[in-house]
Amino acid sequence: METFAVLFRLTSRNIGRNGANMPLSTFAEAHAQSGDKPMSQHASPGSTRRELLRAALSGSALGLALFAPAIAFATAAPAVTIENFSPAGKSLGTQRVPKIVHAEDEWRRMLAPEAFEVTRHADTETPFTGTYWNQHGDGLYRCICCATALFDSRTKFDSGTGWPSFYQPISHDNVVEISDSTFGMVRTAVSCKRCDGHLGHVFDDGPKPTGLRYCMNSAALKFNPRASV
Ligand SMILES: [Zn+2]
Repeated sequence: METFAVLFRLTSRNIGRNGANMPLSTFAEAHAQSGDKPMSQHASPGSTRRELLRAALSGSALGLALFAPAIAFATAAPAVTIENFSPAGKSLGTQRVPKIVHAEDEWRRMLAPEAFEVTRHADTETPFTGTYWNQHGDGLYRCICCATALFDSRTKFDSGTGWPSFYQPISHDNVVEISDSTFGMVRTAVSCKRCDGHLGHVFDDGPKPTGLRYCMNSAALKFNPRASV
């Protein structure tokens, strides 16, 4: 931990010098504008669905009945491969699972307001206000939306930014990183692979061994203390 303490200080200085984080004034804009941004939507297999619909609509009542199950299948959530982890943080291997997809109103009902805005509208919580920026417990951080394991506390470090920070995800199978040029900055956004929930951003000013800083929102995470097995 002493090594980390040094790294934390170095990292904090780097962060300040680089200005990698969004300034507070920009946060106010982000909050103000977040309502205008469209919700992250899953691509549906539109062409397949259209073909099936055309075929069904051009047929008889019997044809419609026959196609109904196929239409339902075609609109089912696509599958993704994620890595499962035990409550002790041990890998249980990869698994092909359906994506978690809900309509915006459903997500709004399921999530606390801040979790909804962060995960579904890519909002950013105000630094030093979240549940986990100063959390030092041993355990796993899972997606608030779908419980997919995202980060292990053993990779968490004090970045000095006011957001929970990790030098790597628990598995690269469980997150998606895409370029994000909103708010006049070019950043890399990180989201949950299974439900597309926005988690935060990753920067290249983190500590060893990766040199990366996964700057997450507490509101997107759920901490579970490590179990013994
Ligand atoms: Zn998720």
